[in-house]
Amino acid sequence: MTRQDANSAWAKDRAHVLHPYTDFSSFKDEGSQVITGAEGMYVTDSDGNRLLDAIAGLWCVNIGHGRREMADAISDQVMKMQYYNPFGHSTNEPAAELGAWLATHAPGDLNHVYYTTGGSTANDAAIRLVHYYFTMKGQHQKKKIISRNSAYHGATYVAAELTGIHATKMSFDKVGEHFINHVSAANMYAKPDDMSEDAYCDFLVQEFEDRIEQLGPDNVAAFIAEPVMGAGGVLVAPKGYHRRMWEVCKRHDMLYIADEVVTAFGRLGHWFASEEVFDYQPDILVAAKGITSGYIPLGATLISDEIYEVISRPQCEGGVFSMGLTYFGHPVACRAALTNIEIIQREGLLGHARNMGKHFQETATGLCDLEHVGDVRGHGLMLAVDLMADKTTKTPFPVTAQAGANVFRTCAELGVIVRPVGDRIVLSPPLVIEKAESNQIYSVLRQAISGLSAG
Ligand code: PMP
Repeated sequence: MTRQDANSAWAKDRAHVLHPYTDFSSFKDEGSQVITGAEGMYVTDSDGNRLLDAIAGLWCVNIGHGRREMADAISDQVMKMQYYNPFGHSTNEPAAELGAWLATHAPGDLNHVYYTTGGSTANDAAIRLVHYYFTMKGQHQKKKIISRNSAYHGATYVAAELTGIHATKMSFDKVGEHFINHVSAANMYAKPDDMSEDAYCDFLVQEFEDRIEQLGPDNVAAFIAEPVMGAGGVLVAPKGYHRRMWEVCKRHDMLYIADEVVTAFGRLGHWFASEEVFDYQPDILVAAKGITSGYIPLGATLISDEIYEVISRPQCEGGVFSMGLTYFGHPVACRAALTNIEIIQREGLLGHARNMGKHFQETATGLCDLEHVGDVRGHGLMLAVDLMADKTTKTPFPVTAQAGANVFRTCAELGVIVRPVGDRIVLSPPLVIEKAESNQIYSVLRQAISGLSAG
């Protein structure tokens, strides 16, 4: 890209594009960083800077950037058949192949897939499917959903309502309050220091049971949770938590929705984390991001045989399952997913992610000796570093200190992209990361955090 083209893109973008999570007042002065190239673990900006991408785009570029094989598969599918109406009884080969692959590899009997355009739409679809299921069973009252504080489930209206991060809701109206409730996040860093992990888990499970009782089990349809909370701070639940929450769901005839938008497709070293890592079989599983490694948008909501059996009963008034997206089962996206899966398989990236995940987590603990690092935690290739003004008293930095933003900026100047979520630094590199890159990320992060003052 020439300097002139980059300047033109910068100006047009600044004038016309509404960026997510952007303060428009500063955006009007600064505009965007124009990313012009991407290859392997690196992206390049319009100033020619080559930056190590320690966040895989946005938790998604699992196989790394710029794969020729992905481009070839996408272009081949475009020339074969790029799109046709998926409603009713028409389909295409990649959508069918991917459906069969998902059924074989997803936990338990999640044998049926509803395709969407990304994670938010897949979570919205999950909630509609839950409602549809209980309606078809004649349990018309059983519609309330329990989610968790600090959860992130997306930006469409219902997915945003499921989300439990306060900052994502500022100045937006609420629509789903009557049917969406939140319980505590499983946040080991926030638990009282004198409480054991087991006791904390008991507390969370009891709180969940109490909430169900309070709402009335006949009114509560489902619980939704990320196996490891992502945007909410890479919160790893206490041992046994998911299994126990799942058991509570089963006791109350509730469905368990696993939001695996981040954790599926290798981030924790497995195709899916719920069963293989945390030992429970969700009734509904939501995937996106790593399903195509971000080469093209796609989401998937998987449902169990039991749900499928109920929703495929004939409707009394001759109605049909009337929930359709134009881009359902998009052939190019499904083909990209199949190629992405083939690459992960052929290159042994799940095993690589498991090995590298260990190294990544172990190296990260080295940051704990820094004055302003309150906590370092994670699982596999997901990690968060909490920045604290005073770590002994867990006192955060004042907002004006902009600690997270400053660390982000320094890391970028030193050639590494990290993600600040407030004063928490989140990392989620592509699965193809090697030790040298992992070491580089931590050495840069150490340098950036060391430069912070108590503010
Ligand atoms: N669920 C989780 C756990 C996510 O992390 C995200 C996105 N970060 C979403 C849902 C929403 O996905 P999308 O942005 O593709 O709509």
